Amino acid sequence: MRTVIISGGSSGIGAATVQRFAEQGDQVFNFDVQPPAGPAPAQAVWKKVDVADWGAVTAAVREVVDERGGLDVAIANAGISVRHGVLELTEETARRVIDVNLLGVLALWVAAAAPMTAAGHGRLLATASVNGRRGYPNYADYNATKAGIISLTQTFALELSPVVQVNCVSPGAVLTPMQLAEYTDEMLADTNARIPARRHAMPPEIAAAFHYLASEEAAFITGQDLVIDGGEVAGATTSA
Ligand code: NAD
Repeated sequence: MRTVIISGGSSGIGAATVQRFAEQGDQVFNFDVQPPAGPAPAQAVWKKVDVADWGAVTAAVREVVDERGGLDVAIANAGISVRHGVLELTEETARRVIDVNLLGVLALWVAAAAPMTAAGHGRLLATASVNGRRGYPNYADYNATKAGIISLTQTFALELSPVVQVNCVSPGAVLTPMQLAEYTDEMLADTNARIPARRHAMPPEIAAAFHYLASEEAAFITGQDLVIDGGEVAGATTSA
């Protein structure tokens, strides 16, 4: 039974990922500031951890490793977004978004990399976004954190190869509480019209990618950003 840490596992993509790994027989630890929104699988333990608190993340990873004798997979998924134009951006908002979305990934990966390299194997994964690969209005700080995750993926992969494989996933629009909190029905419909697949992804579609990247079949994949976006960043949806 593998030991898997997933941050932000109480809702949306993270909750679907907790579900996926637990139902496939792994022991999962969900690091989240809030308890699971719905019923969690028996093989998933919630630990109250704010990923922006580097010391708390380090201590929580150590507890898991001490309890389980090792760590096989760490998925840095927790993230927040705040909609604002660049002229309205405040220091407080920018710092919080960067602390949670970027330093939160770094804290988990640094803490997880040590026991993985000592054990001679491991997988580091994270949730980036298609917004890290292009400009997208009203989310400047968020987009920058996601581009940062793609960069971290490349450098961690180089430094930790061949022992630990490091990859991220970049979802396009996914129907989760995060998306529903900020988008009106009209905005959701506009988004669907822009996506060649004409719909949002559902969280289990992202969870399945994480499960694959953590599997033996994916052992030769490292330093990559897997885009799952229904064709959105491939180009324009109309011919002219
Ligand atoms: P969500 O809001 O449904 O879930 C996010 C979870 O992260 C929540 O359970 C929340 O409590 C937790 N969290 C927030 N701040 C935290 C902190 N400081 N420490 C620990 N946990 C914290 O959101 P989601 O849509 O499932 O997003 C998950 C990830 O996917 C995020 O990184 C997000 O940026 C990314 N993403 C989402 C979409 C989308 O369309 N929904 C698209 C691309 C990328």
